[in-house]
Amino acid sequence: MAATHETLSYLDPARPEPWASFIEQIDRVAPHLGHLSHWIETLKRPKRILIVDVPIVRDDGSIAHFEGYRVQHNLSRGPGKGGVRFHPAVSLNEVMALSGWMTVKNAALGLPYGGAKGGIRIDPRQFSRAELERITRRYTSEIGIVIGPDKDIPAPDVGTSEQTMAWMMDTYSVNVGHTASGVVTGKPIALGGSLGRQEATGRGVFIAAREAGLRMDVPIAGARVVVQGFGNVGGVAARIFRENGAKVVALQDAEATLANPDGIDIPAALAHVAAHGSLAGYEGAQAIGEDEFWHLECEYFVPAALEGQLTPARAHGLRTRIVVEGANGPTTPAADDILRDRFILVVPDVLANAGGVTVSYFEWVQDFSSFFWTEEEINARLEGIMVKAFGAIWHTAQERRVSIRTAAFIIACQRVLAAREQRGLYP
Ligand code: NAD
Repeated sequence: MAATHETLSYLDPARPEPWASFIEQIDRVAPHLGHLSHWIETLKRPKRILIVDVPIVRDDGSIAHFEGYRVQHNLSRGPGKGGVRFHPAVSLNEVMALSGWMTVKNAALGLPYGGAKGGIRIDPRQFSRAELERITRRYTSEIGIVIGPDKDIPAPDVGTSEQTMAWMMDTYSVNVGHTASGVVTGKPIALGGSLGRQEATGRGVFIAAREAGLRMDVPIAGARVVVQGFGNVGGVAARIFRENGAKVVALQDAEATLANPDGIDIPAALAHVAAHGSLAGYEGAQAIGEDEFWHLECEYFVPAALEGQLTPARAHGLRTRIVVEGANGPTTPAADDILRDRFILVVPDVLANAGGVTVSYFEWVQDFSSFFWTEEEINARLEGIMVKAFGAIWHTAQERRVSIRTAAFIIACQRVLAAREQRGLYP
């Protein structure tokens, strides 16, 4: 990515991604912001970055240290909100980009939050449950100075789960001296979690796909769907696509790439992953090559693994009508342009995977009021917010003749920068 900006001194210019992609997306929206573009620089640098050392005693008695991060990209519209990732590739650059996308996502959906993100640079599969608990608790305690129910509210992301959130909630609560359910979302139900949260991101991916399909005349029933990433987001999205009559013809996770032109039995594949930890060894589909996976003919392609997966080379080969971004940042800006030129519609992450943070918002509201809603109420409200946001973003895209991504960024950045302008700069 040609960074036309001065690189922030704390980033490595040799490894500009994915922050450079985020900055390019912001640059693309700037001409559409009118007088508010005066404030645009605020989006190009995170408000606050906390880097912490996370030391633990390992099960064998040795000491290990890990890099931990919490980045608050923008707090103009409310407290920070964004997940915590445990992955060996976590870096400051990555957490910054993910926090920026959270600012945009929360504003695009109209949720009363700024954007934040956190992570620890570890491969969680290499640690025992007891070690992961110690890592999570120490990290939570270290970032305790910047998080809180009215400051910044973490949630699960890649490599973390509702158990991680339970440990975070408990550690924060012990440190402040009272139970603070609202400090994290994505908690177990018994600790103030919300019904419907666990599957909300995948459900939202499906809603976004369906809304795009309605406008593009690509019906879900009978559609062929390819899903990359078969975890919390990809697994649930695949299941709901299938429940609505689509055929999931290929799946990929970190260890296997599988296809079945008749449609994969998703509940059986999910059961296999629950039992074995990955799709490897699942017998209801044939193993295929990486290259074949990116050339499969389908109506919907759902990247739901990690950022940077849809490269320009892959964008040239993709044979789909609609890309629905379950992951954050899966498509590089250059790949985005190729897909546009090939008339492949991209429903961007900041809209397509916003179901998770929307139900996190419901969880936070329920925790504050200690009054809990039914799953039907939650799913109905999620549907309402997603459909309304999709409609508004689609309308802006048509009106301004821009991509859905740029339209989502226009709406979001206008909201963030209007808040910035109205609050003014201190002092
Ligand atoms: P997860 O850990 O539950 O699942 C990740 C999946 O991706 C796993 O199946 C893993 O095997 C697979 N994967 C990892 N590396 C891969 C690779 N190189 N190639 C193919 N597959 C690979 O994580 P998740 O919660 O499902 O998150 C997936 C994406 O969705 C991330 O980008 C995350 O930021 C985004 N997201 C998650 C949520 C949420 O609520 N969990 C909300 C919004 C966005």
